[in-house]
Amino acid sequence: MVVEPPCGHGSAALLEKGYRLQCRRCKSFFDGDFAGQNFDYDASYPELRGHFDGATGEMKRRTFERWLDGAGIDLAGNAVCEVGFGGAHCLAFAAERAAQAFGIEAVPENLARARALGVPDVFPFDGRPDRLPTPVDIWVLLDSFEHLPEPAGVLDWMAANSAPGAKALVVAPEAGSTSERALGRLWPHKLPDHEFHWSRAGLVEIFERHGFARASEFHPWKYVSGAMLANHLRHKFPALALPGPAVKALARVRLYFNVGQMGLTFERAR
Ligand SMILES: [Zn+2]
Repeated sequence: MVVEPPCGHGSAALLEKGYRLQCRRCKSFFDGDFAGQNFDYDASYPELRGHFDGATGEMKRRTFERWLDGAGIDLAGNAVCEVGFGGAHCLAFAAERAAQAFGIEAVPENLARARALGVPDVFPFDGRPDRLPTPVDIWVLLDSFEHLPEPAGVLDWMAANSAPGAKALVVAPEAGSTSERALGRLWPHKLPDHEFHWSRAGLVEIFERHGFARASEFHPWKYVSGAMLANHLRHKFPALALPGPAVKALARVRLYFNVGQMGLTFERAR
């Protein structure tokens, strides 16, 4: 079977390196361990990951606020659209500050969640309108780009719905980061729903091909609780079941960390 890498460099550029089916040009790779599994984003997805949890939401909002500051992006007066907003914590935060907030999302429960949090203008990923009600000034993609089945199609859609000078804030796991290379199969972002891992070069190139020029980079530290870490570990290593009291104790732990994620901003021409 011939697979076309979403980075756009063609199947001839792919080289097998252990479980990594790697693009020679940009070093992004398919994860051979999870090839062709057709991951389903159903209601269990946010539930299993604690995405609707209130404490988790508070961490995500605080983290998002730091990233916006770090990227020099002010939401006030702008139209924002989050692509793949998950538990909608950051989208709700954006809606409180921006002039308008839109979101697209694959999981129906997440759409319902966003509406419940006061963000009515959200659309199913596959049923998104060709044209949003107003052009978007700020795009937000937080841990979502690596999930997109057809990133080029989404970037075309974003380009068509962008206001002049629109910006995009992107945080994604980085193929080729120190932790990815050092941890290999133990890398926390190596998950069944991450079929393709983007390198920094591959990500920059596909955005630039769609008219989004790289504007800045930042280190995406995440504010997390020990309970979030425990949830993540349980998801990655189901055999590792932490007892309830341990999770409760961990819930009180708060820390910043970043394991192999890149943060970038892009900007369209005016
Ligand atoms: Zn490539």
